[in-house]
Amino acid sequence: MKVLVINAGSSSLKYQLLDTDNQQVLAKGLCERIGIDGKFTYKAPGKNTIDAVDVAMPTHSEAIQAVLNALVDPDNGVIASMKEIDAVGHRVVHGGETFACSVKIDDKVMAALEECIPLAPLHNPANITGIKACQAVMGPDVPQVAVFDTAFHQTMPPVAYTYALPYEYYEKDKVRRYGFHGTSHKYVAQRAVAMLGKPIEELKLISCHLGNGSSVTAIDGGKSVDTSMGFTPLAGLPMGTRSGDLDAGILEYLMGKYNMDIKEMLNVLNKKSGVLGVSGVSSDFRDLSAAGEKGNARAALAVDMFNYGVKKYIGAYAAAMGGVDAIIFTAGVGENSADQRMAIASGLEFMGVKMDAEANNVRGKETVISAADSQVKVLLIPTNEELMIALDTAALA
Ligand code: ADP
Repeated sequence: MKVLVINAGSSSLKYQLLDTDNQQVLAKGLCERIGIDGKFTYKAPGKNTIDAVDVAMPTHSEAIQAVLNALVDPDNGVIASMKEIDAVGHRVVHGGETFACSVKIDDKVMAALEECIPLAPLHNPANITGIKACQAVMGPDVPQVAVFDTAFHQTMPPVAYTYALPYEYYEKDKVRRYGFHGTSHKYVAQRAVAMLGKPIEELKLISCHLGNGSSVTAIDGGKSVDTSMGFTPLAGLPMGTRSGDLDAGILEYLMGKYNMDIKEMLNVLNKKSGVLGVSGVSSDFRDLSAAGEKGNARAALAVDMFNYGVKKYIGAYAAAMGGVDAIIFTAGVGENSADQRMAIASGLEFMGVKMDAEANNVRGKETVISAADSQVKVLLIPTNEELMIALDTAALA
């Protein structure tokens, strides 16, 4: 089945056309600066690359049209006509408590998506715009599916998702832990099951999605039972520019001292904190490692704090599940930084984690990086959210 995967942001739209039968990417690219001055990028194996060329895109509809035009282009395209696209899968950030799995989109689903907007006011409106643009350009006969970042975590028990706030904030206002990166955690968990060759029901996994945004998830019997992000993706680990968890009392202190309103405060927490804030150097872990090696103590501290945070979640989630069979590393840092994987896993020998330094000296490849006699397997699994979205979409369409 040929599935077009769409990840729509407020002024950008990432796309991939995948063949789910052989899991091949037929074409992929990006529309940027939608509503500003439209830039279009397209890549397909064996075809000419289009790199950020000017295409008028006043709205997401023109962006989708540009994608379809490129896909069916007689010289440079990969399909003969739009009819070859069997379904469209949309990444949607927030599904609230309404969506515990991917769904085929109809009017009722669209109404429920609108209801989730207050939970993700920056992201969900863009996702909805992307869906409407596809419906407008491709017509009602092509099935559209929504795949949620939050859905995989809907299996968390109340003890993991409830905040210690007055209970009516949960009941009336839906304030609870939702968790994010669900599509990635689900994908790597499925791959781990295949690599370990054991029934999913028997496996306790801890999946570490470590990128610009980072989260750790405890997966027991294939179900997410706890995760480090919360009501928003600001929670949990320190990230590239996000603070992660902190004492809420700090907010009043800093807002009073520097005369900041809550918007300014949140801007600091989302954009100026994390490893960028601590190091003052960069939000990119490659820059931080390089600066640390040259003796920049704050850059080294930022990386150490991040690694320490991941290690603490691994310990906490092993305790929460009463054990762990495998720890998974994925996303930019998890897939590429042998040093950080080693720093995170070292010191966990007491709980049966023994790394193999040589096996760990690898990047971006699905492989076991723990020693042969390690009680807990440590796995490197490159994430593939687009493939997961395409597979869910194909199954539902
Ligand atoms: P996003 O959350 O934006 O999808 P990614 O999963 O692409 O992020 O991860 C981006 C992060 O991965 C960046 O901080 C980058 O520095 C880091 N990264 C990429 N390659 C390496 C590497 N070789 N060593 C350390 N970090 C790396």
